[in-house]
Amino acid sequence: MKIDYKLLTPGPLTTTDSVKQEMLVDHCTWDDDYKSITRDIRTQLLNVAGVDSDKYTSVLMQGSGTFGVEALLSTVLSDDDRLLVATNGAYGLRITEIAERHRLNVVSYDEDFANPISPEIVDSMLAADPSITVFAVVHCETTTGLMNDIEALGAIAKKHNVDFIVDAMSSFGAVEIDMEKCGIDYLVSSANKCIQGVPGFSFAIIRRDLLERCEGRARTLSLDLYDQWKGLEADGKWRYTSPTHVVLAFAQALRELDAEGGVAARQARYSGSQKLLVRRMKEIGFEAYIDEDLHSPVITTFLYPEGQTKPFNFQEMYDFLKAGGYAIYPGKLTEVDTFRIGNIGEIYEEDINKLCDLFAEYLQD
Ligand SMILES: *Cc1c(COP(=O)(O)O)cnc(C)c1O
Repeated sequence: MKIDYKLLTPGPLTTTDSVKQEMLVDHCTWDDDYKSITRDIRTQLLNVAGVDSDKYTSVLMQGSGTFGVEALLSTVLSDDDRLLVATNGAYGLRITEIAERHRLNVVSYDEDFANPISPEIVDSMLAADPSITVFAVVHCETTTGLMNDIEALGAIAKKHNVDFIVDAMSSFGAVEIDMEKCGIDYLVSSANKCIQGVPGFSFAIIRRDLLERCEGRARTLSLDLYDQWKGLEADGKWRYTSPTHVVLAFAQALRELDAEGGVAARQARYSGSQKLLVRRMKEIGFEAYIDEDLHSPVITTFLYPEGQTKPFNFQEMYDFLKAGGYAIYPGKLTEVDTFRIGNIGEIYEEDINKLCDLFAEYLQD
């Protein structure tokens, strides 16, 4: 069965044929060949992050992005730590949920989904509670497409001498992030977002000196990032079965990111598509949910259109668009009816124009 539609979803996303081709090999996991692929990926991730290997290290972990966030929280937070999570979407709330599951000492600042996380509120919460030692936030909240200001938030964290965790799942590779300038101590992302690989593992970029302290902290065996790191450092081997096909595809995706011109070039492509999308959707009658100055180049949330003669039916529209070659994403908000369109992956302005033509055609009928 040939499925021929492109994904306008925030990961998994549409990958290149050359990334998919890499998965036609069944690779063994123990030999030097494979270990060097893993080693190269770890080094290249530090290059993409623009950090020095003396100061930072990268760790790969089986599973989707959530497994990576869970691994990080369980591994780095000790029983003496107290975590503040600032949330303005489903992925921020998930960080709190993970922390609660692991019975970590956690408090949260829950902002309205349409607003950015306020550095002033974080500042006052950290000032009011000196027992807080770690602060976590999502960079691009994929729920709405909103970008939080991690530079301002990082400065607040540093001012209070608090470690800073950033879930950069949907921004890493799509937006230039200066980890040192933002004061990020721990960053998590995954294979199937803006590096444009396929799903199967996540990764964390961590300050070496902080990870060194984490032996024996994780409350889980398989998700122990410290043990995984030690294994990778010792002989380049993942502790348990690694997703070999995914790893090969990811190595290719990194080469293609480089060939495109790195993160700056990818950011320019994504931004061009996203701005075109918002402009054309507005002409057709779809308004974005959040203010334009808060938009990310990654994904946009749109409100259901008003003033239609018959009730708007998402499923019907979804089927129409899919038949036309594009799969979009339902909304994740409870109080308003929305849907989302991602423009990451092998998506170009030509695709955005085709998609918008389909929307216009659908609304006309
Ligand atoms: C995709 C994503 C995750 C992880 O989700 P998975 O379904 O586990 O891959 C976490 N945070 C953000 C912001 C994301 O976009």
